[in-house]
Amino acid sequence: MKTECPVCGAEVELAADAVQGELLECPECGTELEVISVNPPVVQEAPQEEEDWGQ
Ligand SMILES: [Zn+2]
Repeated sequence: MKTECPVCGAEVELAADAVQGELLECPECGTELEVISVNPPVVQEAPQEEEDWGQ
């Protein structure tokens, strides 16, 4: 399954057994992507975990 990186537009290959919520890394820009749908295959930029424990 192939889809497009929403950040750089590169083609991203999803594993055949990819599941919703899976994380992968764009081979082009290195952005962490989250699988939001497998049929059709759609990924979005994964939420960044910010180290903001100050509060
Ligand atoms: Zn990318």
